[in-house]
Formats: sequence, C-alpha cells, structure tokens
Amino acid sequence: MSEARGLVMVVEDEPHIAELERDYLRAAGYGVHVESDGRAALDAVGRLSPVLIVLDVGLPGIDGVELCRRLRARDDWTPLVFVTARDDEVDRVLGLEVGGDDYITKPFSPRELVARVGSVLRRHHGPSTPSTLSLGGVRLDRDSRRVEADGRPVELTPTEFGLLAELIGHPGRVFTRPQLLASVWGQADYGQHRTVDVHVAQLRAKLGPACPIRTVHGIGYRADER
Ligand code: CA
Repeated sequence: MSEARGLVMVVEDEPHIAELERDYLRAAGYGVHVESDGRAALDAVGRLSPVLIVLDVGLPGIDGVELCRRLRARDDWTPLVFVTARDDEVDRVLGLEVGGDDYITKPFSPRELVARVGSVLRRHHGPSTPSTLSLGGVRLDRDSRRVEADGRPVELTPTEFGLLAELIGHPGRVFTRPQLLASVWGQADYGQHRTVDVHVAQLRAKLGPACPIRTVHGIGYRADER
C-alpha cells in the first residue's frame, strides 16, 4: 500500500459529477468516499473522519449549507470546499458564517477542484508543520525521510513513516483507528482496523523502547513522552 494523501469525502447527488471528482482526486493521490445524500453524509463524516469534504450545496435530504452548519454546531471543523451551481448559492456560502474554507462554481474543471483541495489542506496542515519532529527517543525528519530511535537509524516503509509522523506530530492527541485510516491510508473505515494495529506493532518492533506510541484501550492510539 503506497502512502496516501488522506481521505476526501465527496458529497454530490449528480452521479457523473461525483464520478469525475472521485477520479481526479484519486489520480492526485487521495482516497475518496462518495455520498449522494446530505443526511447520510452527515453520519458518514462522523464515522469516517475525512481530512476534507467536497460539498455540493444543492443536495437531497439536507442541503450543503445546512450540513456544514450542523457539523460546526457539533464542533466538527473538517475543512470544506463548497461546490455551488448558482449565484444565490454563492451568496449563501460566502456568508461564511457557516464556516466553509473555499468554494468552486459549476461548471468547473476537475483540475481546478484538485488544486483547491490541495491549497485548503496546505493551509490547514502545511506551513505550521515543522520538518523535524521528535518525541521520547524518536526523531523523524520529513524532508530527508530519516528516522532515529535512541540515536540509531531505523528503516521504515512509507506507510509506517506516515503513521509515525501523524502520531508524533500531534503529541498527546488520541486518534481512533478510523481517523488513522482516513489520514494515513486515505481509506474509508470499512472495518479494517487490523491494518492499523499491524502497522503499530511493526513500528513498536522497529523502534524498540524508544517508541512513543501508546494504546488507548477501547479508543485507539496516542503518542506521548515515555
Ligand atoms: Ca446537486
């Protein structure tokens, strides 16, 4: 499994547009989960923890603006790129009291959509992320892709590297397995929690006593000082 750029949720009720968005985002390295109904999407966001949502405004069930409001009301700040079809939708989205991060107007080029998604994610994660991370006895450099455990160089696969960077990049934060599947593997949670457990076990074996990853029983994993 190659290193993914995270799971993007596409919420779009027109199948051909959803397909186009999915194909281009996948080609750009994202995992993609598609929902076509606002209410179902609201449930799926909680379950799958996408790194970003591409959200059509005109949806059956509840519309995109309302969906955004409900997410923010439950303190979910997943970045959003709205897709609007008409000027009056642009006005509602630009009211931005609803808390969208960007918008794009139909018809749009799929390349432009991919560029917007990339720039919103960079704004959320990019510039503030230092290239060198260290926690406990582990040092990790994102640029050179080097990892050391208690001063000893360690070889990691790209997935192990991504998992370690995600965990030690947020010390003390508890991640659920679905959150890690979304951010590290770019996969929606279809129950493959064992994948996460196997990779954590591999990291522990390779990093030895320096490994800062703790099991949080019944929830997931967290990285901490020893
Ligand atoms: Ca629509």
